[in-house]
Amino acid sequence: MQKAFKYRLYPNKATEKKLYFVLNHCRELYNAALSERKDAYQLHQRTVVHVNPETGGVVAAMMVANQRVKTITYTQQQNDLPEIKHELRPEYEEIAAHVLQDVLRRLDKAFNSFTYPDGAGWKLTVESQGKKLKGTLHLTKIGEIKVKLHRPIEGKIKTATIKREVDQWYVTFSCEVPEPEKLPIAYEDVGIDLGVTHLATLSNGEKIEHPRYYRRAQKMLERRQQTLSRKKKGSHRRERAKRLIGKAHRKICKQRRDFLHKQSKKIVGRYQVIVFEDLQVSNLVKRPKTKQDEDGTYLPNGAAAKGGLNKSILDAGWGTFVAMCSIKAVYAGRTLIKVNPHYTSQVCSGCGQVKKKDLSERWHSCECGAELDRDINAAINILRLGRSQQSAMAVEAPCL
Ligand SMILES: [Zn+2]
Repeated sequence: MQKAFKYRLYPNKATEKKLYFVLNHCRELYNAALSERKDAYQLHQRTVVHVNPETGGVVAAMMVANQRVKTITYTQQQNDLPEIKHELRPEYEEIAAHVLQDVLRRLDKAFNSFTYPDGAGWKLTVESQGKKLKGTLHLTKIGEIKVKLHRPIEGKIKTATIKREVDQWYVTFSCEVPEPEKLPIAYEDVGIDLGVTHLATLSNGEKIEHPRYYRRAQKMLERRQQTLSRKKKGSHRRERAKRLIGKAHRKICKQRRDFLHKQSKKIVGRYQVIVFEDLQVSNLVKRPKTKQDEDGTYLPNGAAAKGGLNKSILDAGWGTFVAMCSIKAVYAGRTLIKVNPHYTSQVCSGCGQVKKKDLSERWHSCECGAELDRDINAAINILRLGRSQQSAMAVEAPCL
């Protein structure tokens, strides 16, 4: 199996300059290649004959010869836009100039890494100094770069990708590692409800809290976003404020991944069948609506305010958590099932009748005597749905 190992790089001034040189030239090549393809596409399009749909007769056939292909940078492309619009593609006149410019800018930004697709052109050396590992990446025509090996690399390295992220450089090695051994069978199954007040509520009543540092990091993010909004467009200070926001995002992302890795490892280690709600469906149902005040700023609303967490942080957290559990489940030989989340919080887990409640009602109470936390009730329903889905699949499978 393939496994990725990502490490921070510490290039000195001279090597960093060369890294930028490669990155910029790769970007240029990328853009040129892209425009070449587009030209080829256009050429192809123009040789296609136009047929009158009613009579079936040929209306027009056109050929364009001598297409020129040149290296195009963002500025050039931007300058060419009016000409392109006027002469070649009049339909672009219908789109706002800024929208088109942004498309080009994104194309330019999209390319911030370059990859060595095999073992040529680079070498990684690792020395052990006591407990610590000292890594050096040797890149042909660029030089030596210090690598921070915060965890040991495993397996056989297949590719190396150098990437620029905000203001730091990274290398990601894609390695071929042996398949891990399957875990011994567990005798407990679990249904998991993902939520705003808690990250996860398990059908056995246990809860996984959102980590506290989410909140701290989010405060920092909000503060920095306010600072940014006060800076003048195009100014140095604005660029700096933007970089700081990028840094805050990166920090939240790293902490979240660490935390979710640990939690998903625990879940997969403990349970044999793991049932989640299908997030693609439940996001539409569960997401608290955002409210705006008169001047357009977002106000905290019921459920989100309770957790004090930003929706985007929650969304990314849920998705990543399920994704991590499913990858780990495959390697451990566990079964992961996703079920339709409709009514999982409304149906009574004791007797099956529907008890309507809105998002603010946190307790499930039923005439059958069921008295329990709303999310635990949902988690039990999720587990039950997962089991019936599993047995339905078993019935459908042909008997041998
Ligand atoms: Zn009931």
